[in-house]
Amino acid sequence: MGTITLSKVTKSFGSTEVIPPLDLEINDGEFVVFVGPSGCGKSTLLRLIAGLEDVSSGVIEIDGRDATRIPPARRGLAMVFQSYALYPHMSVAKNIAFPLKMTGVDKKVADEKVAAAAKVLNLTDYLERRPGQLSGGQRQRVAIGRAIVREPEAFLFDEPLSNLDAALRVNMRLEISQLHQDLATTMIYVTHDQVEAMTMADKIVVLHAGHIEQVGSPLELYNNPANMFVAGFIGSPK
Ligand code: ADP
Ligand code: MG
Repeated sequence: MGTITLSKVTKSFGSTEVIPPLDLEINDGEFVVFVGPSGCGKSTLLRLIAGLEDVSSGVIEIDGRDATRIPPARRGLAMVFQSYALYPHMSVAKNIAFPLKMTGVDKKVADEKVAAAAKVLNLTDYLERRPGQLSGGQRQRVAIGRAIVREPEAFLFDEPLSNLDAALRVNMRLEISQLHQDLATTMIYVTHDQVEAMTMADKIVVLHAGHIEQVGSPLELYNNPANMFVAGFIGSPK
């Protein structure tokens, strides 16, 4: 299961409220995209869900359980960082296996999970290389592999493609969509790129200054934007 519910969630840094009270429902298996301009609170929202930040008030529930009572490592969520977050001195295999090693998973089981993830991600021939010997797209796949082996209830992506060039971004977009189809796992994907949002999402959450302007399918937002902000954002060229 990968159901995530936010009820009246707020976040302040010092006296600045960056997330005013916010409600959001994410269903099991959904591909949800948080989109909005830089500084609108996308990463903060993702970090609250991941447990990397504490909510100032309100409740986040994961599969019906109050997340504040669940330590981040036990929330069943895997955050995919940008590709530069790999360990440069470790092989691809060791990078992918790292979360398993940390949680004391048996080596044989870990090796099997790494092999399976590598197969899905077309990395089988690259397992002994170091990240520095890979292309940008391959490095990004390693970062995703590290999330896959944990078999999370949900994947959380924070602008995972922003370091890649345009052609590679299109490829990786398709690969992540394919992965979502294959795994049928909840994915929350943060981007400031409306094209990514429109092409990848089941559900788009348009954020502006920490609040939700509209939630809907790409088609709903395209056909029926709630206001000028949504219309301007969805309609504007990148
Ligand atoms: P986005 O990911 O949409 O670009 P962020 O979630 O990173 O936006 O930031 C939202 C707002 O919160 C910004 O105004 C940012 O400056 C502020 N912010 C984020 N993290 C912190 C922090 N640790 N301390 C203070 N302010 C922060
Ligand atoms: Mg951000």
